[in-house]
Amino acid sequence: MKRRHSIPLRIGKIVVGGDAPIVVQSMTKTDTRDVSATVNQIRQLEDCGCEIVRLAVPDIQAAESIAAIKKSVSVPLVADIHFDYRLALLALQAGVDGLRLNPGNIKEREQIARVAKLAKERGVPIRIGVNAGSLPADFQPDAPLVQRMVNLAMEQVRLLESMDFNLIKVSLKAFDVPSTIQAYQMIASEMSYPLHVGITEAGLPRSGAIRSAVGIGILLHQGIGDTIRVSLSAHPCEEVFVAYEILKSLGLRQRGPTLVSCPSCGRAEVDVITVAEEVNKRLKKISKPIKVAVMGCIVNGPGEAKDADVGIACGKGRGAIFKKGKVIGTVGEDALVAALLKEVEALIGDE
Ligand code: SF4
Repeated sequence: MKRRHSIPLRIGKIVVGGDAPIVVQSMTKTDTRDVSATVNQIRQLEDCGCEIVRLAVPDIQAAESIAAIKKSVSVPLVADIHFDYRLALLALQAGVDGLRLNPGNIKEREQIARVAKLAKERGVPIRIGVNAGSLPADFQPDAPLVQRMVNLAMEQVRLLESMDFNLIKVSLKAFDVPSTIQAYQMIASEMSYPLHVGITEAGLPRSGAIRSAVGIGILLHQGIGDTIRVSLSAHPCEEVFVAYEILKSLGLRQRGPTLVSCPSCGRAEVDVITVAEEVNKRLKKISKPIKVAVMGCIVNGPGEAKDADVGIACGKGRGAIFKKGKVIGTVGEDALVAALLKEVEALIGDE
């Protein structure tokens, strides 16, 4: 996978673009004016590995809450602004680390210039966040959707550049996966600013995770994307979990355990699915990268279990426990989960 060249920029303590790891971000789902609830959710996000958190800033009170929220958290915060440039100015004054502006809904050049000037003084990047669902109706109405998205983003890029502002990041999101992929592919060759990649409004966790994995995964595999956000109708930690699973699947980031488990079939001589589900539940508390295998029989079991840090390869009502490629014992079906997790604990304790 050869990564597209992008100009790195800094959002608070986090570098996005260049050779930096692909950054995982999410968005709070609390009322930003409720400082305590928002701080609580940001801390949950930090704990589950979120590296940048975006907040909706729909009014003055929300913008002014950012100062208090920032005092209680360490993860960089991005203010999501629509329609009113004064909210962007207030968010900057409150110490926000990044802005997201939706092109087209702040139209006055003078207003954008004031935001760009203050953002530049504070070293705060602006994401030009185009969304297929909110393109201005009067913007190139006869052009195809993807072309309109790209043209609108590029128009805003040039506008900010004309104001001597270049701390720019761009996103071009749609619900439709092929359109999203095409839009990012087009813009990737037109400019070198970092790209925030995501499939917008992807839906409930199961189908949304799949849509996101397909769209984001294809782009990342083509080297396109510097930071990702998975958008799900779910708690934001679910978004972060899915984002890391996408990155782990492509070998781009490591976080938490990876569970290799066979689908089970007529050859299985223990209840593989129940064992795998139980192991998975217990592994959720672990943040160290560790590969764990749960395999149902001798067909592929020993090979996968050997390849994992810790694994079990089951036989008739029993399973062999593997650790770092060696069999270290055999236990009955009832003791499989406990024996496997004991070895996981020992391994992460040793490291
Ligand atoms: Fe079936 Fe064995 Fe393969 Fe599991 S490892 S799917 S039980 S053949």
